[in-house]
Amino acid sequence: MSTLTFVEKTCYVCGAIGRFGEGGLLHFSPPVGLDGHPGNLTPLFTAIHICPHCFFASPDISEGSEEIRTIVLNEKYRAIAGNSNVHELIRKYIAWALIQNRRRNDCEAARTMLFATWLAEQYEKQEITSQCRRKAMQLMKNCQANGGGFEMTRGKEALAVVDLHRRESIFEEALVLCQTALATLSLSEEDEFLLRYEELLIKQCNSSYVTINEAEQNF
Ligand SMILES: [Zn+2]
Repeated sequence: MSTLTFVEKTCYVCGAIGRFGEGGLLHFSPPVGLDGHPGNLTPLFTAIHICPHCFFASPDISEGSEEIRTIVLNEKYRAIAGNSNVHELIRKYIAWALIQNRRRNDCEAARTMLFATWLAEQYEKQEITSQCRRKAMQLMKNCQANGGGFEMTRGKEALAVVDLHRRESIFEEALVLCQTALATLSLSEEDEFLLRYEELLIKQCNSSYVTINEAEQNF
């Protein structure tokens, strides 16, 4: 049974009125994949809205600020947020991540690009997925460099960053990141186990999607 409801919203940036599905969630637990993938992506379908007129993307497009308006009206933003070659489901996450990035909310941007990556893995071409994954990796590193957190624990963050590198077949860097995390972080038993499994997958040059369940059964 669907619990999807629709709400009428007035876009903060352009004033257009639209109806949007509501009821999505931006946080889930527990993860299913090594990168924190929740398994079911349906809650993401309606968690971010995008205005079809000005392409303002946000969890609530009726709210904003002058800073956000300036970002959304910028040509570069419009070229990305309005790119009809990318599925709207993914594009609205890329757009919201871009807004967060421009506002220097690196960790929120990183988390949002990870969501875009998961959606792209399911609904987009390899090329778009790869672009999302690499952008997520870059934003995650920015977030970590500034001492912020985009996941529940440092161990889970390391796991997500390592896993994205492995999925992109950047094995050398993935191995360094993985071994550094194992050597320097205070890890939970589960995170240490999963990072050791990542290490094995990297050494095998395995770039496939792996669930936590598979790791527990095979390692
Ligand atoms: Zn609008």
